Amino acid sequence: MQFRDLPRQYEALKPQIDAAMIRVASSAHFISGPEVKELEKALAEYVGVKHCITCANGTDAITIAMRAWGIGKGDAVFVPDFTFFSSGECPADEGATPIFVDVDPETYNMDPAKLEEAIKKVIADGKYKARAIVTVDLFGLPADYDAIRPICEKYGLLLMEDAAQGFGGNIRGKMACSFGDIATTSFFPAKPLGCYGDGGAIFTDNDEWADLIRSICVHGKDTSNPNDPNAKYNNIRIGKNSRLDTIQAAILLPKLKAFRDYELEDINKVASWYTNGLKDTGLVLPIVREGFYSSWAQYTVQFADRTTRDKVQASLKEAGIPSMVYYTKPMHLQGAFAGTDSAIADCPVTEKLCDTVLSLPLDPYKTHEEIETVISQIRNAVL
Ligand SMILES: *Cc1c(COP(=O)(O)O)cnc(C)c1O
Repeated sequence: MQFRDLPRQYEALKPQIDAAMIRVASSAHFISGPEVKELEKALAEYVGVKHCITCANGTDAITIAMRAWGIGKGDAVFVPDFTFFSSGECPADEGATPIFVDVDPETYNMDPAKLEEAIKKVIADGKYKARAIVTVDLFGLPADYDAIRPICEKYGLLLMEDAAQGFGGNIRGKMACSFGDIATTSFFPAKPLGCYGDGGAIFTDNDEWADLIRSICVHGKDTSNPNDPNAKYNNIRIGKNSRLDTIQAAILLPKLKAFRDYELEDINKVASWYTNGLKDTGLVLPIVREGFYSSWAQYTVQFADRTTRDKVQASLKEAGIPSMVYYTKPMHLQGAFAGTDSAIADCPVTEKLCDTVLSLPLDPYKTHEEIETVISQIRNAVL
């Protein structure tokens, strides 16, 4: 069994994907080809945001958002402690100090009460200027924006939504990638919407920021005349080389259609098989609160302790079933932050989760039989 069965997805979409790759190869329009614009338009429309700017990966997307806002040295950026490294790496890369905030033990997303405590502490200490919050829509579930947006307003902070895992989720119909003042996503192959290599996108309703982001993505080019073919050689700021390849955009177009047409619905069905089959085992199962919709980047359960988790993972492996620990280490304990103020954090929930979570095999193409196999293996190991 595969953890996320990308070959099976390719089998299902082979004619469209092969045609897309051959079309781009034949046209030789490898950089900024027409498919890139077409994809940006389709993504912006799907998410319900005015601008989508694609870029090289989800990490660049966050860094570029930080740079567009001029976030840097002396600034504090609030980031959940339980996330992939990029969420905190990017603000730090721009010179800012990530302040790690504990998460809700049920949703795995940033705990709004802990967030407000952390903001108050930074303001009281006066060492850093509180500038922005990076929320993460972890494992496919949008963060608690009903609570977090008012906190942003109250303290005058910018909201950056890291939806690398959240693409396709929603809250009462409002789509992930539309909650942040700027939102970012990743098309890394294993994400909810993945391409065949690295890729990413940035979303915003703000015209000025969109312009700035387009400039930063292409060496700080002058964007005042979008039709100027030489704009790339008129560099008005320090930027990056961060673009989505045409071939990736061409692959993403039919994949986005499948994602919208059936994959999102199917992965929710697969997740519900797990929930039904595991609900009487005493494990803590993922909670999707009323009004929320998850795109299920992961199906993550919690065991009583690390020994049990490791024992179950070993027994799954024995049976040929892959599983993953997302994440093994809290952000504030990562060696990269050792000795910095980012290492100072009070995050007992994250510390416990790192010892007890396990993510199970999941994708929209899993069969009921496959999920039953995983469920019975877990039941045998814990009951
Ligand atoms: C994957 C991921 C990223 C980074 O995306 P890449 O495309 O791999 O650079 C950022 N944040 C989160 C939460 C992620 O899961």
